[in-house]
Amino acid sequence: MKVGIVGCGVGGMAAALALARRGHEVTLLEAFDAPRPLGSGLLLQPTGLKALGALGLETMIRERGARVDRLDGRDLAGRKVLDVDYADWRAGGHGIGIHRGVLFDTLYGALTPAGVVLRTGARIVGLHEPHRPLLEDDKGRAHGPFDLVVVADGSASALRPLVRPRSRARPYPWGAVWANAPDPGGQWSGALRQVYDRAEVMIGVLPVGRGPNGETEPQVSLFWSLPVSDMDAFEAGDFEAWKARVRTLWPAVASLLETLPGPRAMARAVYRDVWVGRWSRDATLLIGDAAHGTSPQLGQGANLALVDAVELGEHFGVAGLSVPRAAAVYESSRRWHVMIYQFVSWAMTPLFQSHGGFWAGVRRWLFTPLSRAPGIRQLGAAILTGTARLGRWPDATRP
Ligand SMILES: Cc1cc2nc3c(=O)[nH]c(=O)nc-3n(C[C@H](O)[C@H](O)[C@H](O)COP(=O)(O)OP(=O)(O)OC[C@H]3O[C@@H](n4cnc5c(N)ncnc54)[C@H](O)[C@@H]3O)c2cc1C
Repeated sequence: MKVGIVGCGVGGMAAALALARRGHEVTLLEAFDAPRPLGSGLLLQPTGLKALGALGLETMIRERGARVDRLDGRDLAGRKVLDVDYADWRAGGHGIGIHRGVLFDTLYGALTPAGVVLRTGARIVGLHEPHRPLLEDDKGRAHGPFDLVVVADGSASALRPLVRPRSRARPYPWGAVWANAPDPGGQWSGALRQVYDRAEVMIGVLPVGRGPNGETEPQVSLFWSLPVSDMDAFEAGDFEAWKARVRTLWPAVASLLETLPGPRAMARAVYRDVWVGRWSRDATLLIGDAAHGTSPQLGQGANLALVDAVELGEHFGVAGLSVPRAAAVYESSRRWHVMIYQFVSWAMTPLFQSHGGFWAGVRRWLFTPLSRAPGIRQLGAAILTGTARLGRWPDATRP
């Protein structure tokens, strides 16, 4: 089968590998002239790790990443707001914090050996002939025709409205700025730590292991949550005053702040709440953030994209199944995993990113006490690990 994949991000590269290894002829089309990772660090859950294992890449990732055993979120008074332990999911369970560049390089480096053809500088803007799709880029060049087109062009997908015209992708009013910093003594190892001031301030530190540029010291990703409308002011503002404020809120991050030269060292991250309904139409299928982007509150987006990709390879590896039928089977199998995370991310976001005291009050009086109750703690761990799924896990992705 000839497959065209739009987008050389986590989902697109993983899908290219999963399909090429099933013997399909895969062309991966990327808008940028030189594909590059976006953002600074992310947390791979047991689900994402299992999917990387199915692609033969888990060991490389584990060697470069940092083990994360728990999520520890506190308010300014030091009270625990979030306290989720991977061991509540399974003894020895853990995630891996990883530098995005490392995840990117690992997937990218496997493309050519797997026979994937990469075309860069191809920003796809048109989709023609739905049953045997032909793609058109912004320079008027045609790509295809393909037997299957996989759309993995991220939450701001240009192709999504062409595939599912009634889809919605609402930008979240809040985003974050991120930077990496060295952590020579490994003092941040073992946990994703966050500090909150009501729901208006969220500062986080995630250990991400070694960077992609041969760094010898372990690295961490530091993030600061803020409304998207304040991002320009943040970049133009007094960086030293911001650092002083963060130091006051969370003195332990002082040494990380020292390594940041200015606001441009902090990468912007904005995200969208994507609701598509069905993910496929004829011979075109949406995956990853293009299909189901959410806020990063639960840290699941890349993991969901990796699981999408591996399960796609499974469903399109079955001989005798037509493309629309394989897409429908894929969709009904994936739907109930993804929906849980879309819903919980949507419901939890205002508790951690909103103005005023209302949602912070709900968090303090309802969410935090409830989350400590027996049974709910295990449920929280299942949600954190990405493993909450209604229905059966296929063998290839069962964590
Ligand atoms: C602040 C923040 C923190 C996050 N933290 C985590 C975390 O801890 N754990 C986690 O699992 N996830 C996290 N995520 C989510 C994760 O980054 C995404 O879910 C994941 O990158 C989605 O992968 P994707 O392949 O679907 O899309 P993307 O990674 O966005 O890739 C899309 C690709 O398509 C290309 N493209 C776009 N348009 C076109 C076009 N028209 N033609 C051709 N190419 C195109 C882009 O250049 C890009 O290469 C976070 C996200 C944010 C914003």
